[in-house]
Amino acid sequence: MKVLKFGGTSIGSASRMKKVARLIASGDKDIVVLSALSGTTNTLVEISDYLYKKNPDGANEIINQLENTYFEYINELYSSDTYKNEAKEMLISHFDYIRSYTKDLFTLFEEKVILAQGELLSTAMMDLYLREVGVRSCLIPALEYMRTDKNAEPDPVYIKEKLLLQLEKYPDIDVFITQGYICRNAYGEIDNLLRGGSDYSASLIGAAVNAKEIQIWTDIDGMHNNDPRIVSNTSPVRNLQFEEAAELAYFGAKILHPTCILPAKLNNIPVRLLNTMLPDAPGTLISNQMEKGKIKAVAAKDGIFAIKIKSGRMLLAHGFLRKVFEIFESYQTPIDMVTTSEVGVSVTIDKVKHLQEIVDDLKKFGTVTVDNDMTIICVVGDLDPANLGFSAKAIDALKDIPVRMISYGGSKYNISFLVKTEDKKRALQALSDNLFS
Ligand code: ASP
Ligand code: MG
Repeated sequence: MKVLKFGGTSIGSASRMKKVARLIASGDKDIVVLSALSGTTNTLVEISDYLYKKNPDGANEIINQLENTYFEYINELYSSDTYKNEAKEMLISHFDYIRSYTKDLFTLFEEKVILAQGELLSTAMMDLYLREVGVRSCLIPALEYMRTDKNAEPDPVYIKEKLLLQLEKYPDIDVFITQGYICRNAYGEIDNLLRGGSDYSASLIGAAVNAKEIQIWTDIDGMHNNDPRIVSNTSPVRNLQFEEAAELAYFGAKILHPTCILPAKLNNIPVRLLNTMLPDAPGTLISNQMEKGKIKAVAAKDGIFAIKIKSGRMLLAHGFLRKVFEIFESYQTPIDMVTTSEVGVSVTIDKVKHLQEIVDDLKKFGTVTVDNDMTIICVVGDLDPANLGFSAKAIDALKDIPVRMISYGGSKYNISFLVKTEDKKRALQALSDNLFS
């Protein structure tokens, strides 16, 4: 059994949904995880925004527009009136349900219900379409098995138990369809795995059923060795090790949600990134196989703040770093990069909500400076120290660019540089030229 996840753009139009239907019909009892149609979740966020602002008219206008795009979509998707009508009824019931939330108090709880509608719609439409074309599909409701615990972390034991119960109910089926992203929380309320969370759903499902493979279908041919929007001559990376993929996903490669790697890695299930537009292209295979002696890819993450704390008190002292890190922890702000010297430490963060409080607290320990508009550039591959010259090659590529921080040795898979965002393009191109050509 495989798990195949299709993102919003893969089903962004009726013709694309038909294409996906052809792809999944040929599988062997696979589980297909769908996102909402592209743009839908953003629109649902916008609707919620109007409702938070107590503007039901604003919300209703957007709801009507969205509903119309869905009507056009189903008109093109189904060929017979029977299915068109059934789909229309299904849409109306969902959109009326959304409208019912414009009349009352609107809180985080109601918002989560609204946000869940995107995946509920896309999966119901696909299920119905498969039935129209004679594929025996069945809809497995994610709200019956996908659950987070009190710390808002997925609960793998519960997920496995409940999902297997669902699957057992349908022995004579060609394909299972289910929703990505949505779940219930520890209190049984409708919740979600955060934006982009469908990849996470796919990976959790893959782990639960011990899938042969988890496939993430998007509209680009695998993970590229650099950002194709910024750098010329990028090419897809064929193989990545889990660790390498995690670094790339976290540090900017948009193709895969970073949370997706862990459940697959823990259960040693390969993840394949594939392109719906070019289904025969090999894509990228993420597994526990490490290709020795190769630098694989470069990725960049913008919106970074670098904070430097300089203090004579750090000299020969112990416990200084703990005090610094505790401040970040108390404001629930994750740190990405760290570099230290004997008299100072620099860290980067991308969450700015409590920046001012953090800086105020840090001032108790030393002189604090903040640089904003920074970018982390992360070079990923076999960067084992034994590979002489590998790190030098990356550093040499950046010889004409002011580098604010370098982090190497945290893992064997990565070297990261912090540069000004205005130098990002130059830095990425130089790395591509030096490492891959
Ligand atoms: N539909 C959700 C989002 O747009 C989940 C996903 O697409 O992965 O964030
Ligand atoms: Mg998505």
